[in-house]
Formats: sequence, structure tokens, C-alpha cells
Amino acid sequence: MLCEKFDNPGKVSFTTIPTKLDGDMTEAQALTRFAKQAIELGKLQELLSAAGTHALLVVLQGRDASGKDGAIKSVAGAMNPGGTRVAAFKVPTPEERAHDFLWRIHKQTPGKGEVVFFNRSHYEDILVVRVHNLAPKEVWEKRYEDINNFENLLTDNNVIVVKFFLHVSKDEQEKRLLDREANSEKSWKLNPSDWTERSFWDDYSAAYDDVLERCSMENAPWYVVPSDNKWFRNVAMAEVLIEALKPYKAEWKASLAKLGAEQKVALEKIRAESA
Ligand code: AMP
Ligand code: MG
Repeated sequence: MLCEKFDNPGKVSFTTIPTKLDGDMTEAQALTRFAKQAIELGKLQELLSAAGTHALLVVLQGRDASGKDGAIKSVAGAMNPGGTRVAAFKVPTPEERAHDFLWRIHKQTPGKGEVVFFNRSHYEDILVVRVHNLAPKEVWEKRYEDINNFENLLTDNNVIVVKFFLHVSKDEQEKRLLDREANSEKSWKLNPSDWTERSFWDDYSAAYDDVLERCSMENAPWYVVPSDNKWFRNVAMAEVLIEALKPYKAEWKASLAKLGAEQKVALEKIRAESA
């Protein structure tokens, strides 16, 4: 595995995890490897979609400019758009705020046969909310357990849950934010608040440590992806997703074979009747 997996509650200090790895690959090698992974991922998604017994939820968290959008473009791009959806969670609207914090999230979860990528997620309700005191501690403290229960509910109902934290260094973030300023083709991505958020770097680190410590479960693991190299990030994420889906391959193929056999019987019956 190219990135570190957290599937048990326990003390975490993710800032000790490197942000920049190459996995013994050159960029060119990584691109070739990703092209092959993309084909495999596409096939697995097709099986998931056709079998219609399971869903896949991919949660993406990370600081500003950590590459959430780019990761979705590359990794979701390997899949059939017909069976894939992206849900982005922004500052809650008044209607969303009037409900429990999982209300808007639950509505966006994937149905059987579907893949959904969360660009930010329910975790913001214990990250940004905590860092900026948007709710008192008594409120967000309870959410770790609420989230674990929610994710257990999903996995009990055949949703495969994979959570990625895109891990970038403070220097790499600065480089990317400055690049957005300097490059007119990227300046639309500029968001002055990204610089304000950056000054809360250590508060976010502490908040992320607690999330990894308290919301890592065997059935809903977190993966910390070294993301300073975008090409490494893509290969690492694709590897995780392939490993997460592969165990179901035989089951999905068997249910498709059964479906195919049933359809053949039905077809033969129609032919026999009209003969
Ligand atoms: P972006 O993902 O860069 O488009 O920005 C979305 C913004 O919405 C980020 O600044 C998030 O911190 C913010 N956001 C997302 N979810 C929540 C939430 N539950 N409460 C407050 N802010 C949120
Ligand atoms: Mg942003």
C-alpha cells in the first residue's frame, strides 16, 4: 500500500507522515501505472453498477489546494459518468443549518450500484466548526460518535466507505496558492479566505489528528495520502480503491452470470412462444 491506512481508533500524529513520496516511481512511470489502474477501476465500477448490490462512497478531505478537485477529476474520471456522482459540501444553507448536521449528507449517499465522491463531507462539522468555534464544544464533541454510527449504518447497508485525507505540506500549499495568483488560467480558483484558513494550520492539524484517532474504523478506514506529488496521489488513491473493490469482484460476477442466465431463459421462452 502506497499510503498509510487507519482502521482502528488510536492516537495519531499525522504531521509525522510524509507529504511527498514517489513510491520509487518517476512521474512518467506513475502516469503509465495510473493509466492501467484507471482501466481496472473502470471495470470494477462497471461490475458494481451492473450487480447493483453495493454502493461506493469516497470521502475526500484536505486543506485548501490539497488537490481534492484534481483527485476527483483523475480518479472519478476513470469511471463511467453514468454511474458516478460528486457531492460538494459548502457552508451550510439556512435550511441545512435548521436540520441535524447529517441531514444534507445522508441525502447525497450513493444508492446501490452507484459511486459517490464527497468533496468535503460531514467531517467539516468537526473540523471547520471546531477550528472556528462555529458551535460550542458540547455540540461538536458528540459528532465523532454520531459519525461512527452513521458510517456503520451505511456499511451495514452495503455501502463501501473509503475516506481519503489529502496530505500536503505548508510549503506546497503556499506554492499552489501563489501559483493561482500568478497564473491567469488558474486565478479563478483564487479564494482570499484560503490565506486566512492557512493561518489556522496547526489548529486544523490537531482537529485532523482527532478525526483520525476517533473515526477510523475497520469498515470505514481513513487513508492519509501524501499529496505534494499529484501523480503519486492519483496512483495511491487508485490503488486503495482497487483494493477496496476487488474483494467483491467474484460475487458481482456471479450475480451478473446468474442475471444473464435468467435473461437467456426468458428469451428462449419468448422465442419458443412465437415459433
Ligand atoms: P471549497 O471546498 O473550497 O469550495 O470551500 C467550501 C467551504 O465550505 C470551505 O471553506 C469549508 O470549510 C466550508 N464548509 C463546508 N462544510 C461546512 C460546514 N459544515 N460548516 C461550515 N463550513 C463548511
Ligand atoms: Mg477552497
